[in-house]
Order: sequence, then structure tokens, then C-alpha cells
Amino acid sequence: MPAKKVPAPHPDLESVLVTDAQIRRRVRSLGRELKKTYGNEEITVVSIMNGALIFTADLLREVDNVVRLDCIRTTSYGSSTESHGTPKLVHGLTLDVADRHVLIVDDILDTGKTLSLIASMIRGMRPASLRVCVLLDKKGRRQVPFEADFVGFGIPDKFVVGYGLDFAERYRNLHCIGVLKASKQKAHL
Ligand code: 5GP
Ligand code: MG
Repeated sequence: MPAKKVPAPHPDLESVLVTDAQIRRRVRSLGRELKKTYGNEEITVVSIMNGALIFTADLLREVDNVVRLDCIRTTSYGSSTESHGTPKLVHGLTLDVADRHVLIVDDILDTGKTLSLIASMIRGMRPASLRVCVLLDKKGRRQVPFEADFVGFGIPDKFVVGYGLDFAERYRNLHCIGVLKASKQKAHL
């Protein structure tokens, strides 16, 4: 039998924080947590593009509830690794969320500005319930108080890419989550 092929980490990564296998395991268990919370209720998922795209696609296939999906977009980091200013909503909701069980899905909770903006916007639309699920949480970086209801992994204050997270729109397709080499954080600008 051929030896199991272990994919080499991407050459632009300094280190891998969360492996492909760890992500798959955790996404499956997050699916179980969602099921426990929502039972057989319909869920209206609001996914924040582009970062949450891959996480959302995998997570939603771990629940057998009836799911409605909407995607919204906020201003991003652009080609920088530092969040700047107040996030703005670029593309709003198209589904009605009033009286629905709404679950916001995002890639990472950092300063908390983006999710608190989106959560307060949705809260104003009077959903039946509002919860937040993030794959990653950089707790030490919070500038506004905000906690997610479901968290995949707590991570240290490092700029990470992969599994949907980008630097200058690159690296979203990596299977793992890793820290970009410092020399690569200036490229592509
Ligand atoms: P916040 O508003 O909480 O500061 O920022 C949240 C957004 O910033 C995330 O949805 C994500 O797009 C981006 N972000 C925060 N930290 C990182 C990171 O380490 N890597 C990448 N690629 N994006 C990040
Ligand atoms: Mg984002």
C-alpha cells in the first residue's frame, strides 16, 4: 500500500496553527452543537463574504435542518494585515429575517467591530433569535465587547490565512489555517 501522502504546508506559511484534519473534526462537532441548540427548527444563515465562504459551505452540510442562506459583504482589510477604521456594509441582506432563527457565520472574530455592526443591524430587524458562529476567535484583540455563541478555535494574535481567510485575496483555498511569513505580508500590494 502506498504511504499516506501528507500535503506539505504552503511555502508562504511560517507555521500551521490548525490542520486540515483538526478543522474537519471541529466543523463536524460544531454541526452537532448547532443541532443541539436548534433542534429541528429552520435556520436562516447569514454568511459574511468572502472569508466565511468555505467554513459556511462545510458547516451547513453538517446539519440536517432546513436552512436558508443569505450572504452579506463588509469592507475588508484590503491588502493589509491590520483592520482599519469602522467596517461598512457593502452588500446587505436579501432574505427577510423577521421572526426567523438567524445564525451569523463568520471566519474570525478579531476586534469585534464587524460582527457587532452586523448583529445590531440584524437585531433591528426583529429576528426570533440571533446567534453567531465563528471558526476562529482572537480573544486578546477585542476593541468592542462581543462574544460568539459557537467558536471553532481560539487562536493567538497572529495574522492567519487559509480555509477562506485571505491576504490580498490570496490563500483562501489552503486546507489548513496558517501564519503567513512576514516577507509575504508585504507582497502583492
Ligand atoms: P473585526 O471587525 O472583528 O476586527 O474583523 C473581522 C474581520 O477581519 C474578519 O471577518 C476577517 O475578514 C478579518 N480578519 C481579522 N483577523 C484576520 C486574520 O488574522 N486573517 C485574515 N485573513 N483576516 C482577518
Ligand atoms: Mg471577514
